[in-house]
Amino acid sequence: MTKRDYYEILGVSKNASAEEIKKAYRKVAMQYHPDRNPGDKTAEEKFKEAAEAYEVLSDPDKKAKYDRYGHAAFAPGSGGFSGGQNVNMDDIFSQFGDIFGDDIFGSFFGGGRRSSSSGARARGARGSNLRIKLKLNYEELSKGVTKNIKVKKYIPCDTCSGSGAKDKGSIQTCSTCGGSGQVRKVTSTFLGQMQTVTTCPTCNGEGSSVTSKCSVCKGEGRVYGEETVNINIPAGVQEGMQLSLSGKGNSGERGGTPGDLIILIEEEAHKELHRDGLNVAYELHISFPDAVFGTQLEVPTIDGRAKIKIPPGTQSGKIFRLKGKGFPDVNGYSKGDQLIHINVWTPQNITHEEKEMLNKMNNSPNFKPQPGKSEKSFFEKVKEVFS
Ligand SMILES: [Zn+2]
Ligand SMILES: [Zn+2]
Repeated sequence: MTKRDYYEILGVSKNASAEEIKKAYRKVAMQYHPDRNPGDKTAEEKFKEAAEAYEVLSDPDKKAKYDRYGHAAFAPGSGGFSGGQNVNMDDIFSQFGDIFGDDIFGSFFGGGRRSSSSGARARGARGSNLRIKLKLNYEELSKGVTKNIKVKKYIPCDTCSGSGAKDKGSIQTCSTCGGSGQVRKVTSTFLGQMQTVTTCPTCNGEGSSVTSKCSVCKGEGRVYGEETVNINIPAGVQEGMQLSLSGKGNSGERGGTPGDLIILIEEEAHKELHRDGLNVAYELHISFPDAVFGTQLEVPTIDGRAKIKIPPGTQSGKIFRLKGKGFPDVNGYSKGDQLIHINVWTPQNITHEEKEMLNKMNNSPNFKPQPGKSEKSFFEKVKEVFS
């Protein structure tokens, strides 16, 4: 039987990317899968042919050899893929976890785990995710921060190293599955024998059972304790955002995969500043004489104090902008500004003397309001700031 070209089998060009090859194989394998074509000998051959083609084309080394020497690269004894006649169905299925993901694999094989020759996977139940709230101040939100946080959670049991067993002799390899955690059911089909792989019902996939339990963790392989977790918070996070630290949640039982630690960001209110998106707003109160004469003063910002100049004749309601003094965008390079809103203070209690001075001023033409064209209206200012 002359062998067909691998690219032709999968229906891809020689320049196809790894992703395209994978996709093409998935399509062909689905089309000719024995479950979908019971009793069809041609489909079986095509299925095997596709698996062989994929085996070679998905491996950069083998693909390079094939591109150079063609099928001769994998002649018997060369150490390459042994050829269509000897394709083991189990090998084909072992590719499927990678190709189809667990969902499709599951639907093919009745919920079984991915077939794997990697051996025992002595693994207990996965640990659950853990959520914690983390309150950050404006400076931390703006600059990012590294926090070492003590998290109360399930951690592996020290006494038994997470095995749940009293000692090494108390761990017994599961006799049903021989320690692999999986059982293979052999079904007779037109192909001869077909194997399906499912989780071992005796040990629930752990591959072993504990005959004498660790007295500290009562066989769970984990205890409730505390772990210091190092958390890197990027600059620009905001209230309500979540960060997920993979594997930092609760430990699994008996060596099972740990869950994730999910950190919910909260903002600590600032005494003087308040956030408005990426901008920071500050209400500045100045005296009437300062507004008239102009002055220099300090205002709080996210990182320390900044000097600003109030020009002579500053009106109440004026907004000054400190460029780039707001929060950074967590997903980009932009940065907000600090907006300083001027409030000219109107005295509420005055002495008799002050009253006389004010009366005098009130008669002066300079104290009559004369909003010129240069004075933007409140609405224009708002528009300017928020556009
Ligand atoms: Zn078992
Ligand atoms: Zn223990």
